[in-house]
Amino acid sequence: MTPSGTVHEAVQRVLIDSDTLQNRIRELGRQISADHAGQEVTLICILKGSMLFTADLMRTLDVPVVVDFMGISSYGASTKSSGVVKIVKDLEERIEDRHVLVVEDIVDTGLTLNYLLNALTLRKPASLKVCALLEKPARRKVEVKIDYLGFTIDDHFVIGYGLDYNNHYRQLPYIGIIRPEMVSE
Ligand code: 5GP
Repeated sequence: MTPSGTVHEAVQRVLIDSDTLQNRIRELGRQISADHAGQEVTLICILKGSMLFTADLMRTLDVPVVVDFMGISSYGASTKSSGVVKIVKDLEERIEDRHVLVVEDIVDTGLTLNYLLNALTLRKPASLKVCALLEKPARRKVEVKIDYLGFTIDDHFVIGYGLDYNNHYRQLPYIGIIRPEMVSE
């Protein structure tokens, strides 16, 4: 279905409002800053879903950071994981001997993150940690360690705050459950 009307009409229910998101992100930022005292951190923003989260998270950090971007293909226009992951845009900087924090929007089956962590480990960072805004444990297929987690959610397809359906709705300032009739499957 082509989106029409206001973007908010695609949302059945707001799951996590903007204030709740920002409060939790400040807490994560405090924890990450404390754990990385004396270090410079390379934030890897996983495009496109993590862009808003990365932008807000980095403003809460008081240790030196550099930010880099990695683009990976995930669901395409579907709401189900294919398990096929492809790097469509690689990092610009080397991460060897750097303290790396991968910033991910949501961990669902875990396949994407598992693939990414394996690929990044080969580049020999000094440390490699994960900060994920959301996780859906119900559909996990591989175990992945999330060092910093915003929220655990039930098995809904969510949009907003960077998360899309068919590349739309990323601009919603909250996390919402998509109306089933918006999903064309
Ligand atoms: P996984 O490989 O863990 O199954 O999926 C991770 C990726 O799938 C996420 O980075 C995200 O792009 C996408 N994804 C998983 N669940 C959702 C969801 O509820 N909403 C949206 N918009 N994307 C999701």
